[in-house]
Amino acid sequence: MFESLSEKLSGIFDTLTRRGALTEDDVNAALREVRRALLEADVALEVVRSFTDRVRSRAVGAEVVRSVTPGQMVVKIVHDELVAMLGADSATIDLDAVPPVPILMVGLQGSGKTTTTGKIAKRLTERGKRKVLLASLDTRRPAAMEQLAVLGKQVGVDTLPIVAGQSAVQIARRALEAAKLGGYDVVMLDTAGRVTLDEALMAEVAEVKAVTQPHEVLLVADALTGQDAVNTARAFEDRVGLTGIVLTRMDGDGRGGAALSMRAVTGKPIKLVGTGEKLDALEEFHPSRVANRILG
Ligand code: GDP
Repeated sequence: MFESLSEKLSGIFDTLTRRGALTEDDVNAALREVRRALLEADVALEVVRSFTDRVRSRAVGAEVVRSVTPGQMVVKIVHDELVAMLGADSATIDLDAVPPVPILMVGLQGSGKTTTTGKIAKRLTERGKRKVLLASLDTRRPAAMEQLAVLGKQVGVDTLPIVAGQSAVQIARRALEAAKLGGYDVVMLDTAGRVTLDEALMAEVAEVKAVTQPHEVLLVADALTGQDAVNTARAFEDRVGLTGIVLTRMDGDGRGGAALSMRAVTGKPIKLVGTGEKLDALEEFHPSRVANRILG
């Protein structure tokens, strides 16, 4: 992820820093190249536009042009604005509520939602010393319910027993009740995924949310799908309301656009990223580290 963008930006900034004195035209020309590199990395147009506007308004002033190292000042401004675009502070899963704390996992089928549910449960159990209960609400795909049960066993957390014929809302209610009675700290509800966004999916997820009042609503989205991931996030944010995003397949060979646009488009932080198929391949998302990586 980000390799190609990083290479392009370092090319642009090498030229800029080697120049010494800079005119406003030099800065503007460099920013046009930055804009092109971001668009090629599949960053949303609206995000690129506001990013380059903000950098330009800070970088073409007299202060930069007159400074001893103007190129480096421009790079510093780009770095700061990248961090701002990614969300400034890193955000973690918030469990600050009366247990059992419900976490709702939402997203499209194939995004890595169920795997991520298992990964988060593992992390909360091992690092957070939390007692976690998992429940699959995917009433249409028995295989998805089985998959969650298998994952639960692998990571050593309990899964709500499957009862045939119940609706998603009924399962969610049963999960909350079981979590209360069983003294669990966290109950993770893995909602059904669909191949495409549809109203039936949204209505079901919205209903489950209304009934369970989750403390976190985490969208799982595949970073490799670029703008589609961002559009999915926007749709879930508008229809259901999210508290955060988990981007999966950050280990893949993507252009990075989804990671770079997500925060600015949805207003919601990327809380975690998936970096592989293994159950411990889950990392926190640190905007300044990502900006450092992109800028080399
Ligand atoms: P769901 O349909 O959204 O529940 O998707 P799954 O959890 O079943 O995941 C689909 C596939 O993606 C599985 O083969 C997972 O192992 C894989 N997967 C999930 N997260 C990641 C990730 O961060 N990196 C990689 N490389 N594969 C992932």
